[in-house]
Amino acid sequence: MIEKYYPSKVWKYCPYCGAPKISWENGTHKMHCATCAKSFYINAASAVIALIRNDKGQFLFTRRKNEPAAGKLDFPGGFIDIGERAEDAVIREVKEELDLNLTGVKYYTSMPNRYLFGGIVYFTLDLVYLCKCGDLSGISANDDISDFVFVDVNDVKPEDLGLESVKIIVQNLKESSTNCNF
Ligand SMILES: [Zn+2]
Repeated sequence: MIEKYYPSKVWKYCPYCGAPKISWENGTHKMHCATCAKSFYINAASAVIALIRNDKGQFLFTRRKNEPAAGKLDFPGGFIDIGERAEDAVIREVKEELDLNLTGVKYYTSMPNRYLFGGIVYFTLDLVYLCKCGDLSGISANDDISDFVFVDVNDVKPEDLGLESVKIIVQNLKESSTNCNF
């Protein structure tokens, strides 16, 4: 159960004063310390997902090299750096992972996700972008992916995928892939 790795379950001490008497309002989102009376909010980190299609309409999936969900299919993307625009993060991540140069990005939708890393859950909001890419011939797997594949979304099974947000996005694409022409 991923819930046991929520910050509210993992954190034992106040990050300000170190006292052990911390409580959580709304279950997971706001820590309060009874000793120093300070609060700390757990917010969702921003991440991006790139939807890239070839001329057959197949989507580009990556294979994750690292945990969480190592070996599972994923979309290109990653965390947005602090101070970075989401549009720039999509372009940067696709370049890092696949050595592809995007020529256009357009916001599509968003999906919350829970990302278990290093024994704690990071809550994220994945911003999904439709991506234009001129030449796909120079594509290569780099950075934190081990491989890539173009697949018809209807051929992707839920067990092929690792992350919650990606499973929902794929399900939505199966129902309305024509909505994401760009
Ligand atoms: Zn405190």
